[in-house]
Amino acid sequence: MNTRTPRALVVGMGIGGLATAMRLNEIGWEPVIVERAPARRAAGYFIGLFETGRATAQRMGVLDAIGNRTDLTSVTYDVERDGRRRPGMGYGDLPGGPRLILRGDIETALYNSVAPRTEIRYGTTPTAFDEHSTGVDVTLRTTGEDASETTEHFDLVVGADGMRSTVRRLVFGPDSQFMRPLNHIVAATVMKEPVPGYRPQDGVVLAEPGRSVWTFPFTNHHPGLLFNYRTDDEDAQFRRSPMESLRAAFGPEPTGPVLEHLLQQFEKADDYIFDSAHQVEMATWHTDRIVLLGDAAWCLTLYSGMGASTALAGADLLGSLLQRNPGSTTRALREWDQKLRPFMTMQQESARTEGLTTFVPQTRKDKVVRTALQRVLARRTGKKVMSALLAKTFKEMSIDIAAV
Ligand SMILES: Cc1cc2nc3c(=O)[nH]c(=O)nc-3n(C[C@H](O)[C@H](O)[C@H](O)COP(=O)(O)OP(=O)(O)OC[C@H]3O[C@@H](n4cnc5c(N)ncnc54)[C@H](O)[C@@H]3O)c2cc1C
Repeated sequence: MNTRTPRALVVGMGIGGLATAMRLNEIGWEPVIVERAPARRAAGYFIGLFETGRATAQRMGVLDAIGNRTDLTSVTYDVERDGRRRPGMGYGDLPGGPRLILRGDIETALYNSVAPRTEIRYGTTPTAFDEHSTGVDVTLRTTGEDASETTEHFDLVVGADGMRSTVRRLVFGPDSQFMRPLNHIVAATVMKEPVPGYRPQDGVVLAEPGRSVWTFPFTNHHPGLLFNYRTDDEDAQFRRSPMESLRAAFGPEPTGPVLEHLLQQFEKADDYIFDSAHQVEMATWHTDRIVLLGDAAWCLTLYSGMGASTALAGADLLGSLLQRNPGSTTRALREWDQKLRPFMTMQQESARTEGLTTFVPQTRKDKVVRTALQRVLARRTGKKVMSALLAKTFKEMSIDIAAV
């Protein structure tokens, strides 16, 4: 009988990679994480953790460690450039009541469990894969002080290396084959100073056809800040500084006090994201011994509100199915793909339609509907009725997909 501990390479130390390593440890595998960055990254942007993620995190025993930064006294206002405001619906008011946290809250909770029992190599990335019937020989390149190149054998490779995945490119094909542009730019950071004239725990949303800016208040932390805008020329957005692109996208009308403050907050940020939104669409997420997971595989985008939750769920389910199929990694990967695929297809479709319009009204009509909706939501009964109407849809959208 073969009693050798199976070894897996996990590429990427985001939520997907860390959760995978945690589950592999639990089922008796030896994961090795390689992360391209030279060190752990900052806490990053806001995340709403819906039931899919909450149920998974609970099962994995990390939900308490992830915590909850939702401020129950918070009010989110819909604002106009001229300063008019009315109470609206913030991210935390959505049915299903997502936990508002930072991406780093999930990563830290997972990291604290994984790091003591897992080899982590920073500044390291795969450059070639040679897959055969008994495993995968992977060439790994490390840069920096310990620069080296080695080829090592693994029983399984998990590509959890994000939307522009190197594993996907090397094993399945170029980005252009799988990345579907949503023609929107996303700019996210954390604010240093609250919006003047608003309580620090309150949020604001300024939504116009084709562009919007949101703030996401937290307890015990500065609010998150998110700009979105539509563009027909993504490349042009990266030929100038993010600030110039943001000002061009939100012009030429005068900014007014709230938008100006928010633009200045982005300008002052130490750390930010400025990127185009893409979904990843693939007919299969795996070969016999190489599998993609999280944004590398299905990138739902922030417009689904489910990227972090599904990265956790994908990792949890992978662990469960590998454990159930000892000796047949291929069968485990096939079952894993089959179980997740309908759910991810539904999430992608919803993110491209209702999800995107919720974050960015696409037309004048969307904006009018949004304003009418805010008027209903401003009343306590309106909010209750609306939540009840949406509750069923949100329940179906956020099932515990990793439960086995
Ligand atoms: C602004 C914003 C808001 C969001 N809001 C929500 C939300 O409310 N709810 C929600 O559920 N999701 C949200 N998401 C999506 C969610 O953050 C992602 O889906 C999730 O974090 C993806 O995790 P991941 O581990 O798959 O990938 P990533 O987080 O992209 O991690 C990939 C890791 O791989 C590393 N890497 C990349 N290339 C290589 C390489 N060649 N070799 C080694 N390492 C490599 C990277 O450095 C990184 O550490 C949001 C996203 C954004 C941008």
